[in-house]
This record gives sequence, structure tokens and C-alpha cells, in this order.
Amino acid sequence: MHHYPDASAVIRATSPDQPVILNRPHAARRAARFFVEKFPGRTLYAVKANPSADLLRVLWDAGVTHYDVASIAEVRLVRATLPEAVLCFMHPVKTASAIREAYAVHGCKVFSLDTQEELEKIVAATDGAEDLTLCVRLRVSSEYSELSLAAKFGADLTEAPALLQATRQVADSLGVCFHVGSQSMSPHAYVQALEKVRAAIVDASVLVDVIDVGGGFPSIYPGMEPPPLEDYFGIIDRTYESLPISYSAELWCEPGRALCAEYNSLIVRVDKRRGSELFINDGAYGALFDAAHVGWRFPVKALREDAAATDEAFSFYGPTCDDLDHMEGPFELPSDMRAGDYIEIGMLGAYGAAMKTAFNGFGESEVYEAGDEPMASQYRGDRRDPRVSDNVVSLR
Ligand SMILES: *Cc1c(COP(=O)(O)O)cnc(C)c1O
Repeated sequence: MHHYPDASAVIRATSPDQPVILNRPHAARRAARFFVEKFPGRTLYAVKANPSADLLRVLWDAGVTHYDVASIAEVRLVRATLPEAVLCFMHPVKTASAIREAYAVHGCKVFSLDTQEELEKIVAATDGAEDLTLCVRLRVSSEYSELSLAAKFGADLTEAPALLQATRQVADSLGVCFHVGSQSMSPHAYVQALEKVRAAIVDASVLVDVIDVGGGFPSIYPGMEPPPLEDYFGIIDRTYESLPISYSAELWCEPGRALCAEYNSLIVRVDKRRGSELFINDGAYGALFDAAHVGWRFPVKALREDAAATDEAFSFYGPTCDDLDHMEGPFELPSDMRAGDYIEIGMLGAYGAAMKTAFNGFGESEVYEAGDEPMASQYRGDRRDPRVSDNVVSLR
């Protein structure tokens, strides 16, 4: 893969007609080392956030040995890329054939579930295997998170105790897992969820071997500066230690966003300007899905050296013929932006590069490596602490 110092060097060398994805392996490596060294338990990478094989190898080399996969295609991808990785199939609704292949062909022994039917499916598809770690997914609140994951999956407190007891009967190792929602802006989300775990365990009176606090660890975006990750780790550790669990129990987490947000940025070209609207060559059906559909704001940087010194608020249109291919922003860029200019959009490693489709004939892009720093980082140790500054912490 071609390596450039930064986005401007890519423009000078290639004047790209298509969007360009920039990989920053050093940033992903730093995030992985942070979790491996500082999270008080085991870190599983949630592959759906960015399934790039290059990224998987960076994370593995940095010490991430466990991978949270949610489809048989992700199982096959991780197994083909990292032959020794430990696979954890954490989607609570799977097909019998996916479970069978994951277990029998790829050696996956960790599964999640949130119903009795799924438990029976797992037992049948593994021919009553006795070496399984089975994690019961609890439904917890997403009130502190920017993107909810509270509606779709999880047993509630009326169902969980019986499900925990039934799962204990067949599991070699019993786990409880949850997901507080993505981009959780307060560590308190995990305390609230762990208190639900406590209630379920006490009610069920079962011995639990794994507590999996899921994903939701935040990254940094304009208008969303979360507290330091150390705060999350500290409060999770203290609450976990107070739970009534097996003396040999393990604590797991499943970050997606926090491990890969800094890994990618995107270079786009302005093909037309109409007032404060810029028509760019990537959008809602490309890497900017979240910018279009949930109004997510990503940091932007104009790449023309003689651009105006004063900024103006722009919105973007993507390249497809669909009106929905629109990103409201606001994106602050030099007031003299014009057709032919290039823009770098940062922090697209999580749920950005992974979302590209080929709709309307768009979606092709070049991929290069860049050696400079991501537009924001929570792993460099130089970030202002939002608790002692006037940074906005958005809490819903
Ligand atoms: C999506 C997902 C994750 C990762 O979530 P992030 O918010 O990206 O950290 C982890 N676990 C499960 C079960 C998921 O569905």
C-alpha cells in the first residue's frame, strides 16, 4: 500500500477523482495498546465497526487476541485473517447453520443469546457441546449514549433470571453481557447497567464466570468530548469487583468505535458549490452514512493552501441522485471553497469506511496509508481534560 506523509501529499501526487480512504495504523495500534494495558480485563474488538483485514492485523499485533463477530461472514473473515484469534459470536439472533459452522469449522466457542429458543438452537447446532461459554444478553438503558442499542436485543429483568438458570445447566462457562449504546458520553452508563446485572444474578442465584460490559466506549467528535477513558475503566472496575460472582470470574469489554475511530480519514473532492452547499464525491451511501442519517458531525479540513482565512458553515450533498444523500453538518470550512477543492474528513474509522455501498455506481475509492496524526486523539496524552475545561459534554 502506498504511504504518504498526509492528505495534502496525496492530493499533490494523485489529484484523485474518487474519494480516498487514509489508513493510520499507528493510531489504531495506540488505541489497542491503551485498551490492552489499561482496561482491567480482556478486550474483544467488535469487528462490525471496521472489518478491514489490515486493521485486524494491526490490532492483533498490538495484543488484541479476542474478536466479537456477529455474522458468519465476519467469523470467516477473522479466521482467514488471524488463524489463532479467539472468536466470540455475540449476535443474540443467529441461524443454526451459522452456529454450526462457527463451532465445528472455525472453533468458535463463545456465543451470546437473549431467549430460551436461541439457547436451544445453540445446544442443538453444537450437538450438545460441553465446552461453550454462553453469555446472556441483558437489555439495558441507552440514555447516556448518542446511538441507542436498547430496543432490539436483550432479556429484561423479568426474563433474565430463568434464562440464566437454564443457560447455567448447559454452559461450561456462564457470562452476562449488555451494550449501553454507542458513543456513551458518561461512565455512569456502565454502573447503571452493572447494577442490572447484579439484580439478575442475585435473583437467579447462579454462579457467573464472565461479565462482559460490551462496547459503547466513546471517541472524540466536534461537540462531543467525552470524559477520559480512564474514568470509564476505573468505575467499571470498582463496580465489577463488588458483584457477587465466581472468584475466578473474568471481566470483558467489546469496543468497536474506540479502537478504530482514529484509524481512517477520507479525502473528498468538491464537484460543485451552490451557496453554502458543497456537492462532494462521497456521502450517505458511502463513508458518511452517520453524517447523513443521524446528523453526526465529523471534523473537516480544507486542503487548499491559499484558502480564505475566515470560515463559513457548509452542508454537503453526496454524489448519488437521492435527495437523502445530504449531510447537514454544519461543517466549518474556508468561505471561498469552490469546485475542485479537496476536503479531509476525519475520525471515519468506525462506522465510516465500513458503510460504503456501490449504490448509483459510486463507492469506489483508493486506500493509502498516512503517517500524520488523526484529527483528534484520546490516546496521545495531550488532550485537555473536559472535566476541567469548558468543552461541551453532550448528555441526553
Ligand atoms: C456494535 C457492537 C459493539 C461495538 O460497539 P461500539 O459502540 O462501537 O463500541 C460491541 N458489542 C456488540 C454486541 C455490538 O453489537
